[in-house]
Amino acid sequence: MLKTIALHAKESPFRNLVTPSERSEESLGIRADFRRPDSSAGGLPAMNILLIPEQREAKWNPVSFETLGAAQQIAAQTQSRLSAVLLGKGMRPLAEDLAPYKLDEVLLAEHDLLERYTPDGFTLALRQIIDRVKPDLVLLPHTYQVRDFAPQLAASLGKGMIGDCVGYRHENGRLVFVRQMFQGKTAADVTFVGAPPWFASFQAGAFRGDQAEKAAASAPITPVEITLQPAQIRTTPLELFREAKQAVDLTQAPIIVAIGRGIKAPENIPMAEKLAKLFGGELAASRPICDEGWLPMDRQVGSSGQTVAPKLYLALGISGAIQHVVGMKGARTIAAINKDPHAPIFEVADYGIVGDIFELIPALTEALEKK
Ligand SMILES: Cc1cc2nc3c(=O)[nH]c(=O)nc-3n(C[C@H](O)[C@H](O)[C@H](O)COP(=O)(O)OP(=O)(O)OC[C@H]3O[C@@H](n4cnc5c(N)ncnc54)[C@H](O)[C@@H]3O)c2cc1C
Repeated sequence: MLKTIALHAKESPFRNLVTPSERSEESLGIRADFRRPDSSAGGLPAMNILLIPEQREAKWNPVSFETLGAAQQIAAQTQSRLSAVLLGKGMRPLAEDLAPYKLDEVLLAEHDLLERYTPDGFTLALRQIIDRVKPDLVLLPHTYQVRDFAPQLAASLGKGMIGDCVGYRHENGRLVFVRQMFQGKTAADVTFVGAPPWFASFQAGAFRGDQAEKAAASAPITPVEITLQPAQIRTTPLELFREAKQAVDLTQAPIIVAIGRGIKAPENIPMAEKLAKLFGGELAASRPICDEGWLPMDRQVGSSGQTVAPKLYLALGISGAIQHVVGMKGARTIAAINKDPHAPIFEVADYGIVGDIFELIPALTEALEKK
């Protein structure tokens, strides 16, 4: 289910604002309108939907399954056909992972030049897939890689793309996507104008990956021939690297214990770290903690840090500034401890304790140690 944050366009000064130049939007094939998302449905004709899930080095990016869940919902509500395409080399095992899901077809686009990701290789291969499948709607997870190639792909077809969506609905025969704007302070409804294919990507945490449905029978896996020449690829991929040696990928953590300025001093961090370990989770932080150098930048959650969607997010001494909330609001369960009963973090928390973290962290630690 889509969770919306309390600060929404309902209260926003931007409520009735339409983006600057309608004409320029129309030339991109999209139109935006700022308002509160709801779940009203309207008749929408059946479509041909193409999902482009993401793998890297033969490992799934879990946001792929969240987008699969969203694509399945749209397909079910509109009686649409849904296929997925896998690009790479040696992708058969991953295609077999995907086939049991409720899909009409899994396309397998393999080529030596797709073994390592390049924006040119992916764009050119996907142009060929789109020519063949003729999708009305192309859905992608909003990952760094997708941000790299998908706008190029859409633009090469003279189409716009609605990126980083947190939800959708159908209304008056149109599919309407919801995007956060102004760092999550308001939300805009954005829809496509003009002929398909339409491109949209979904933000991590907007949908639940574990709700992607499997089918009674596996989808057929269809290999698709791709024509690519080395001269068409203008970049050479180097080794993948992580910026810092100790870099942690918080997006994969099922449980996150996050500390904010309420932790007061770096000497107090080990107690939160111990609690995170006892939970079997990762330690994360608000920006001031990383700005101070108390924790490395890769532990920062928020608009200028990581966007996370764990099963549990425990916020300790974090006020809940919008720049922090946009990075963690996709958590399935949010629990917060803050001594200020009016802290904005309580607006997004499923469970809140008004109290002192220096009393509650030791109490929680003790309780978990006893288990
Ligand atoms: C362009 C831009 C980008 C930004 N990007 C990010 C980002 O990516 N991530 C991010 O987090 N921030 C980001 N920020 C900063 C953001 O606006 C906030 O300043 C920041 O999130 C506040 O961090 P905090 O909640 O830890 O600190 P504070 O706002 O100072 O809150 C500390 C909280 O701790 C509570 N507290 C204090 N002592 C205790 C105690 N003993 N027990 C319990 N509670 C206690 C207080 O009541 C308070 O609510 C960004 C800002 C800008 C302008």
